[in-house]
Amino acid sequence: QDVVLRVNDLRTHFQTRWGTVKAVDGISFDLRRGETLGIVGESGSGKSVTMLSLMRLIPIPPGRIVSGSIELDGQDILQLSESEMNRIRGSKIGLIIQDPMTSLNPVFTIGNQVSEAIRIHQDIPKRSIMEQALSVLRKVNIPAAESRMRDYPHQMSGGMRQRVVGAIGISCQPEVLIADEPTTSLDVTIQAQYLALLKDLQRDSNVALIFITHDFGIVAKMCDRVAVMYAGRIVEQGSVRDIFNNPSHPYTEALLASVPKMEDDVERLYSIMILAGEVPSPLNPPEGCHFHPRCPFVMDRCSLEDPQVKEVSPGHRVACHLF
Ligand code: SF4
Ligand code: MG
Repeated sequence: QDVVLRVNDLRTHFQTRWGTVKAVDGISFDLRRGETLGIVGESGSGKSVTMLSLMRLIPIPPGRIVSGSIELDGQDILQLSESEMNRIRGSKIGLIIQDPMTSLNPVFTIGNQVSEAIRIHQDIPKRSIMEQALSVLRKVNIPAAESRMRDYPHQMSGGMRQRVVGAIGISCQPEVLIADEPTTSLDVTIQAQYLALLKDLQRDSNVALIFITHDFGIVAKMCDRVAVMYAGRIVEQGSVRDIFNNPSHPYTEALLASVPKMEDDVERLYSIMILAGEVPSPLNPPEGCHFHPRCPFVMDRCSLEDPQVKEVSPGHRVACHLF
């Protein structure tokens, strides 16, 4: 399968009054056309900064992408000017932010917001813009889309607004779409609708999807491959099958074992104890393997040397001294 996005040794740092925060600290991964990659991690692991880095939406200062490359269709977007990047955002790489408060503007109609997303990326007549807006709204199953174009966000249900956000995300047929997980404040039905919407969008458009989440349950339902992040690094990545059947990094094992099962067992309680341990401070993470203070298998070298990434089977990579 061909690679549409190749991230190599990406580092995004923030300067703070207290020192440098290495929010993303040397991550590499590939994304293939039409697949879904889940990026999983606890809050503060660097998933959101990864998402913003891929869109080049890091606030500068205090943030800065200090090294690495992000190749979209073979072109390193870190080398583009801001105006070139503006053309690519939305048209080649899109973002669906699941924050119902900020993702739609309350003072503009739905039709207005969808057409604006199309207008800024495509030089086409107004009539065609309206037609295209209508067609993406239909694609995300907005009933009576033509009259709904005149509605304001507050006139729509939460689920409907989500679909509009999805419509904006795909309005210019991006090759890569980044979506974050449904906020926990959403009710279960709306969450399920959101996931179904993303799946539909992907099936229809064959877009490559990056799904940012802390929830392994959602990964199992949504993703083809998974990258597990811890303290700014990817500690393990592989196919969903690799990760679920043969989790190799101790952190991945702990995360997976903590997912509720039918019957609780000792292993699960143990994992919960590990995960209850302190998440490292991004300002001053532990030396060597960042996970070593919480790791049940810690060895002497773990606090001294950064573990290198090893391929344990084709496409299954682990950064841990046990391998
Ligand atoms: Fe545990 Fe060492 Fe592996 Fe880190 S490198 S996960 S501390 S065994
Ligand atoms: Mg985050």
